[in-house]
Amino acid sequence: MSTVAQLLAQSGLPLLEARMLASHLLEKNSAWLIAHADEALSAKNEQAFAGLAGRRLKGEPMAYILGEREFYGIGFRVTPSVLIPRPETELLVELVLERIPADAAARVLDLGTGSGAIAVAVAKARPQARLTAVDVEYAALVVARENAARHKVKIRFFCGDWFGALPGERFDLIVSNPPYVAAGDAHLAQGDVRFEPQRALLGGADGLDCLRAIVAAAKEHLHAGAWLLFEHGYDQAEACRALLQAQGYGEVQSWPDLAGISRVSGARVSGDIGPLVAQTERNAST
Ligand code: GLN
Repeated sequence: MSTVAQLLAQSGLPLLEARMLASHLLEKNSAWLIAHADEALSAKNEQAFAGLAGRRLKGEPMAYILGEREFYGIGFRVTPSVLIPRPETELLVELVLERIPADAAARVLDLGTGSGAIAVAVAKARPQARLTAVDVEYAALVVARENAARHKVKIRFFCGDWFGALPGERFDLIVSNPPYVAAGDAHLAQGDVRFEPQRALLGGADGLDCLRAIVAAAKEHLHAGAWLLFEHGYDQAEACRALLQAQGYGEVQSWPDLAGISRVSGARVSGDIGPLVAQTERNAST
């Protein structure tokens, strides 16, 4: 029989992780764990903790064990069907929000939504916006839907390949964090990434297959002057800007993440650049 303190100390894990697992299992916060350090655990809880710690010791990501990860200050359910939301992707959300006026009923599309992190974060911050999110994996959409319901935001979800489910639709902004890792990239064999869905990570021989497809097709689904913004790999900014330029987009640019790495690129559809959202679509009451 172990006490809480013994359990944490003998887990073989960093203390912070051991605490997170114990909090999750016992449904108590870390203050409770400290206050009850000398309390004996039931055999059932001790065994369950050993199970969770064992999974972590084999490398399974904390987010999958806990079924939860915070992104943009919001709690998201995550499962092995979706990528674990990453802090650097918050930059993408910020760039989207800068381009959607708070009072505009902007039509925003999130391509490859996964857990729904981007779409839900945008929908929460811009209640007037009309969000659409697609993913090719039905299992991912189940998770995204759950996250939308949890945060009480309305999002239209479609299962399909990029624009496959959206023929003829146009948007005021398209955002995507698509798969962009090159096949054989060494970091696929390291850390959390080993447990993430390959389909959400791999972007072909040079990693750019999905981005090429999105950049080429998005033009037909954006209003004049509307933005396409996407995340890419640490070394792909130049190639991404070249793709955007080759397809005739304007104001092509990249933005650095907090680590100073060019992580997001984007551009606007050229043409008659009017207001982001047609005046008629603005919410009359605001
Ligand atoms: N940034 C992720 C990684 O480095 C990849 C995410 C993606 O492909 N969209 O693993």
